[in-house]
Amino acid sequence: MLTSYNEALDNSEAAFDFIVVGSGSAGSVIANRLSENNNWTVLLLEVGEEATFLTDIPVIAPLFQFTNLNWNYLMEKQENMCLGLVDQRMAWPRGRGLGGTSLINYMIHVRGNRRDYNRWAKMGNPGWSYRDVFRYFTKSEDCSVQRQDPGYHGIGGDLGVQDVPYRTESAHAFVKAAQEAGHAYVDYNGKRQMGVSYVQATTRRGLRSSAEAAFLRPIIKRQNLKILTESRVTNILIDPITKQAYGVQYIKNRQRYTALVSKEVILSAGAFNSPQLLMLSGVGPKKHLEDLKIQVIQDLPVGRKLYDHITFLGLVFTVNQSIVSDQSVLERPESFLKLVLNGDGPLTSLGGVEALLYFKTNVSRDPKPYPDMELIFISGGMHTDVGEYYRKTFRITDEIYNAVWKPLEKKYAWSVLPMLVHPKSYGHLELKSSNPYHFPKFYGNFFTDPRNEDVKTFIAAIREVQRIARTPAFQKYDAQQVKTPIPGCGHLEFDSDEYWECALRHITGTLHHQVATCKMGPRNDPEAVVDNELRVYGIKNLRVADTSIIPIPLTAHTNVPAFMIGEKAADLIKMNWMREK
Ligand SMILES: Cc1cc2nc3c(=O)[nH]c(=O)nc-3n(C[C@H](O)[C@H](O)[C@H](O)COP(=O)(O)OP(=O)(O)OC[C@H]3O[C@@H](n4cnc5c(N)ncnc54)[C@H](O)[C@@H]3O)c2cc1C
Repeated sequence: MLTSYNEALDNSEAAFDFIVVGSGSAGSVIANRLSENNNWTVLLLEVGEEATFLTDIPVIAPLFQFTNLNWNYLMEKQENMCLGLVDQRMAWPRGRGLGGTSLINYMIHVRGNRRDYNRWAKMGNPGWSYRDVFRYFTKSEDCSVQRQDPGYHGIGGDLGVQDVPYRTESAHAFVKAAQEAGHAYVDYNGKRQMGVSYVQATTRRGLRSSAEAAFLRPIIKRQNLKILTESRVTNILIDPITKQAYGVQYIKNRQRYTALVSKEVILSAGAFNSPQLLMLSGVGPKKHLEDLKIQVIQDLPVGRKLYDHITFLGLVFTVNQSIVSDQSVLERPESFLKLVLNGDGPLTSLGGVEALLYFKTNVSRDPKPYPDMELIFISGGMHTDVGEYYRKTFRITDEIYNAVWKPLEKKYAWSVLPMLVHPKSYGHLELKSSNPYHFPKFYGNFFTDPRNEDVKTFIAAIREVQRIARTPAFQKYDAQQVKTPIPGCGHLEFDSDEYWECALRHITGTLHHQVATCKMGPRNDPEAVVDNELRVYGIKNLRVADTSIIPIPLTAHTNVPAFMIGEKAADLIKMNWMREK
């Protein structure tokens, strides 16, 4: 427990070498690495609380979206989009606690495609090519994945990475079926990403390896690191004349405090709150800040770009045997004992996610072998917990649940979530007001690219999943697509392109990988907020280091890239201040 580290600061101890705002995936790594130097003092401020042991149990990951550990953000309503979601608004959850979003995520462990990072470097960000960032991925890891490519993984790092110890027969069927359909088995974090694989998990002995468990718990006794939870930073203190950051203001127990910094403030509050804090502190689009009567210190395109990874929720297939997830098994006491005593058993399942497949659809215009889709195999679906939690995380309406999934509650069914990895459409975020307690406004702007390529890529992915379901490995279990029309699309011929576009516009959800809101880029990039050393343009002693700096979407989920960004940022900061000395 961190309680002894959680007392408010009195003024005599309120000056630090570094202040890190946000203890999420990136911020926890940075606080850890900077406080390795005994001569430096580090303050880590986190608005949320410390989580309990329950968050360590992988299978119940979706439940934490209904607790205080979630910010509970919602996307603004978009015309002709999310038509089958409650109030036509997509849930945009975010972690709020010691460990950030790594406390509530699904623990899918993916670094991304080497070409992703080479593209970052080519965009004018030296130091971020795959060759440059590779060592930071391996530095964090303690990997025990069985079928791994030699030379691509780390051992002895802080972050547990392993196979999920428990697999259903349906996962074996999917992996076999994908191979029968021509997809090679790969270590997607190894030599080649394109292909199928059982999922690799950010877990250790079957339990969640959160940022807190991996990077903070082992070092809480460091005297030079102060961690304060339930401490909400309201703004960064920036001298308007020198444009130098010199501290932060935060609220704890309803009292306002100031903490000062002699070296740097590092903003790691995540892809929504880092841009929010910058704007509240006078760094953002000039007109927007002026409209809200915020004094403009630096005019920058903060929040103007926001990419996300979205998915279609309605790809479900029945089978004729009990090869899928079974809710009753999860509730048995022996399942809990297996988890605690052996790090094994059904509770180690990543909320039902068992395998991944990366492939290039037949509508991709990219000549290179670069995936445009990820398929996430789930050994169940919205029906597995009888509509109790999982479907509510996506805000699927009762009408749609009752029509499509309710009839499956007593059947065996699996699902695939196709994830559009390189969307053409993008949105933005902005402040609602100058009040730090008001949530920002989020605009997804999905499926708005002029050539409608995002929709076409989804439809191509749906056809590929259908092809995989027709292979002998799945036909052995008589896999059949659920053909109940999505209410609102019943007037269209099932399986026509028009039908799928309608279905996509009804039940699309996010997979929570929002990026680019404080985009990294060269000075001549009009969208850039930070440079390749993550320094905010025009402001001294202020960096942003979290998923908000990711310039373009990755062929990955974003937790592992956030750890990598934390590792790299810490090295950049260390090198900077060693040079100064
Ligand atoms: C439901 C869900 C499932 C996901 N599943 C996966 C997955 O399986 N695999 C994967 O790779 N990725 C997954 N992701 C995404 C991934 O977890 C995140 O992208 C990643 O953790 C973000 O890291 P970060 O460091 O950018 O920010 P975060 O981890 O979000 O950390 C930001 C921290 O800053 C704190 N903070 C914010 N504002 C303030 C303030 N004003 N004062 C003080 N503190 C503040 C927040 O409370 C939070 O703790 C998932 C995300 C969600 C929401």
